[in-house]
Amino acid sequence: MKTQYVCSECGKTFEITPDLMVCPVCSALQEPDKPLRGILEVRFKGQISRDFEITDFLPVEREFFPPIPVGNTPLWQPEKLRNKFGMKNLYIKDDAVNPTGSFKDRASYLVAAFAQKHNIRDIVLASTGNAGSSMAGVGAAAGLNIILFLPKAAPVAKMVQSLQYGATVHRVDGNYDLACQKAMEYVKSHPGVMSRSTAYNPMTLEGKKTVSLEIFQQLAYQQPDYVFVSAGDGCIVGGVLKGFQDLQDAGLIKKMPTVYAVQSDNSSAIYRAVNNNGEFTVPVSATTIADSISVDVPANGYYVVKKLKQHQGKCITVTDDQIVEAQKELSSTAGLFAEPAAATSYAGFKKASSELPKDASVVLLVTGSGLKDVNTAMKGIVVPD
Ligand SMILES: *Cc1c(COP(=O)(O)O)cnc(C)c1O
Repeated sequence: MKTQYVCSECGKTFEITPDLMVCPVCSALQEPDKPLRGILEVRFKGQISRDFEITDFLPVEREFFPPIPVGNTPLWQPEKLRNKFGMKNLYIKDDAVNPTGSFKDRASYLVAAFAQKHNIRDIVLASTGNAGSSMAGVGAAAGLNIILFLPKAAPVAKMVQSLQYGATVHRVDGNYDLACQKAMEYVKSHPGVMSRSTAYNPMTLEGKKTVSLEIFQQLAYQQPDYVFVSAGDGCIVGGVLKGFQDLQDAGLIKKMPTVYAVQSDNSSAIYRAVNNNGEFTVPVSATTIADSISVDVPANGYYVVKKLKQHQGKCITVTDDQIVEAQKELSSTAGLFAEPAAATSYAGFKKASSELPKDASVVLLVTGSGLKDVNTAMKGIVVPD
């Protein structure tokens, strides 16, 4: 299979090499406090059959992937929720069961494999917590050195995980956006180190698309009608759309699912841009309790707004109170304890459910474990004396 990079803005093609992260032409137009310009997508030439393996759709061969079981997560049928909403084709795709407890392992897994293939030993990234602990864990299995810039406000479990896995952790006195700047500076001053910062490294988007390929396989080679995904940087939503688009390009599905990107109204930059002709105006400081989707300037913003528009996707917001309530309800009704950002997809589904046909097949993507941030989960319960 022949693969290459294609710029998601200008359409220029490039050879896939570790030295190239964004389109040199479009990224030269980068403005401060705006989403990344010149994001590169992987494109294929060749045939992929219906009984494909996931790696058939990836630009790195099977042998380079580290020995840790990422992905292949359950797509299951939450019976109590199905009854509650009268929707018999409701599913949960539970990515909290990944090795480090979050969806981010899908990106880290491909990044680690790409590093192995190209003899890279050191990887740096900024993270609100999960990307960092994920890269640390998957990197440990791969034998890579991981350097992580993490805001001091990140939930303690995510920092402890990263240190347990052996990453070098730099705690940043500021928010995620500042951590991103620090990671970028580190890459510039340390040649040979690869960045895994979300959206910037094309392998992050590409790794995240694998969830859509699995959903297609698990639904017996059908696409769902709707997928609900929480959004901060918009890289997971972008990956989900890219996965279904690849399936469509391969001729394996005829129609794209409708993807709902769900944000907190305390961190809603993508929502605002969608409703503002795709323009990202002055950043608003994000304050949501769902730390994993708390982002002022979404790195993958331009890409995801364009893809949502292209595939008739939607972007909606929910309140933090609705997120806390959704988290508790998912725990006590489905038996799935998800972190707040992960319960946000369910909160969005609750809000939109009345607009969906009762017989539609709907997938709620659950992106992280509740054990990652028990302090916020305390808001939804009463602790006995
Ligand atoms: C990172 C993350 C998200 C949001 O992903 P983006 O690519 O930033 O939109 C949602 N939920 C969890 C648990 C995450 O770790």
